[in-house]
Amino acid sequence: MANSEHVDLARFVDGVTRRNPGQPEFVQAVTEVAEDIFGFMADKVKYHEAQILRRIAEPDRVISFRVCWEDDKGNIRVQRGWRVQNNNAIGPYKGGIRFHPSVTESVLKFLAFEQTFKNALTGLPMGGGKGGSNFNPKGKSSNEVMRFCQSFMTELYRHIGADVDVPAGDIGVGGREIGYMFGQYKRITNQFTGVLTGKGLEWGGSLIRTEATGYGAVYFLQNMLMTKGNAVAGKTAVISGSGNVATHAAEKIVQLGGKVLTLSDSEGFIHDPAGITQDKIDWVKELKTVRRGRISEYVKHFKGATFTGGGARPWGVVCDVALPCATQNELDGRDAETLLANGCMAVSEGANMPTDLDGVHRFKAARILYAPGKASNAGGVAVSGLEMSQNSARISWKEADLQQHLLDIMAGIHASCAEYGSDGTGYIDYVKGANIAGFKKVADAMLAYGVV
Ligand code: NDP
Repeated sequence: MANSEHVDLARFVDGVTRRNPGQPEFVQAVTEVAEDIFGFMADKVKYHEAQILRRIAEPDRVISFRVCWEDDKGNIRVQRGWRVQNNNAIGPYKGGIRFHPSVTESVLKFLAFEQTFKNALTGLPMGGGKGGSNFNPKGKSSNEVMRFCQSFMTELYRHIGADVDVPAGDIGVGGREIGYMFGQYKRITNQFTGVLTGKGLEWGGSLIRTEATGYGAVYFLQNMLMTKGNAVAGKTAVISGSGNVATHAAEKIVQLGGKVLTLSDSEGFIHDPAGITQDKIDWVKELKTVRRGRISEYVKHFKGATFTGGGARPWGVVCDVALPCATQNELDGRDAETLLANGCMAVSEGANMPTDLDGVHRFKAARILYAPGKASNAGGVAVSGLEMSQNSARISWKEADLQQHLLDIMAGIHASCAEYGSDGTGYIDYVKGANIAGFKKVADAMLAYGVV
């Protein structure tokens, strides 16, 4: 019983803070999980004795490396790259790669930690990892992005593999970047394996992977609304971001009969009271993925829409449901109060940890339908898991089958959250449910392995 003495939550969080100096995002993510897991573990000595939470909150390894590349003017540029392999108790490490100037070791450690629980929730055999670089793809030519991706992979390739660690896309990493990285991996290793997901359809990708995160977040929202006898149809939605997750969340809201009012990027948000229809979403997709422009351009094309700059976020726009789909900590306690005061009934996170701890506490206290990203945005990694299965079997599944898998997986995650998050009064604490369901699966596998 050497390790089973009661360690209270505050002491645990103190320890995490001390061991991870200058890493606030990581501490925040661990704290949010620990708040729920301590209650769950209270009468379960086996997890205490094996120090399971302490072990999950210590990445298996953090790989940090230099990435040199040459810009179009012949200047040598130096970036830092990372891969955080958090936990592979239930499958190969799996999680995206992010290219954004805000990327730090803390951000990637929080994302890899969250990914461990998220991947467990999907029911598929995937561990948790995350990687990236502080490289800023904005304003770079395609040749510059290619040279950067090749240099990044020239180091990363030795740490990944179809049965070891399978990266995917994330902020700043879409189909183009996955293509450049997969091409370099193939060149170095001379192997065509499912080492990355989010690949193009011609070279091993899966149908609906691109759409899966945004669609999945709306399916999860629909599942939550159904517990109240409600539906997406007729609801107004405020969405942040204008990238992969945001545009596909918007698309699914529209398909289900809802009205999307906003989209954003790091410069500000657009508000279109007439509704952002499928035609307009298609225009935004082209703007962001082909022309690589800014969301402010929307108001020049669509009359009646307004742009609010200065990095403003859309949470003050009156809505029934909100989907934060841009980045971490984009919705704070004050924003949460604003949404609640305006009558927002449900929040489904497309981004990872977009709501800060204060905001999470306010949503929980108000007992609205609130889904944390690790549950509601798991559709993307779930279809990545299906891409891995298709690659292993060297087959391609039909779109209808994949759509059904995605619907079933999101419904399954909702059911897991309800199992561990219901308080018996009809209220479901989705944060608690997701944390406990994800933890239990990983923890039980770790117990089986002994002390490794
Ligand atoms: P994209 O790069 O396609 O889009 C990101 C969007 O968020 C852009 O509109 C971007 O604006 C905005 N954004 C990024 N950083 C900031 C910031 N610091 N402040 C304000 N806006 C910001 O990324 P994704 O859509 O793929 O990812 C969005 C979120 O969803 C992330 O949290 C990601 O981790 C999460 N996620 C993504 C998955 C996927 O399958 N892609 C899977 C699960 C989660 P700008 O262009 O100005 O930078």
